[in-house]
Amino acid sequence: MAIKARFRIYELIEMGINEVKKGNVERGRDYVKLAIEYAKKGSIKIPREYKRKYCRNCFVPLVIGITESRRVKSKILIRRCMECNWIRRYDLRGLSKESEGISLDAKDRQKRSK
Ligand SMILES: [Zn+2]
Repeated sequence: MAIKARFRIYELIEMGINEVKKGNVERGRDYVKLAIEYAKKGSIKIPREYKRKYCRNCFVPLVIGITESRRVKSKILIRRCMECNWIRRYDLRGLSKESEGISLDAKDRQKRSK
């Protein structure tokens, strides 16, 4: 039962992202809200990996170039929600837990290795 609910939450977040990619930002946000509601009801913790996929302020799924802008400044990744201007910074020097698994855009990575 719990496994099923968890799967449903992940699925809803992914569906929300797909809606944003199709241009349906509001529908995408509805999916995320639903996922959060499910999580609350089932006392399920949404993993960090999935929490990063939506704005924690306005719940819009974050898709780079559509609802999210990313910048890297002195090894700090700055993610901004283009819907509500919510900003979150990730230290890319690998010291903070928040930056775990966050990767730079392929372009930035190339720049860095050269
Ligand atoms: Zn937002």
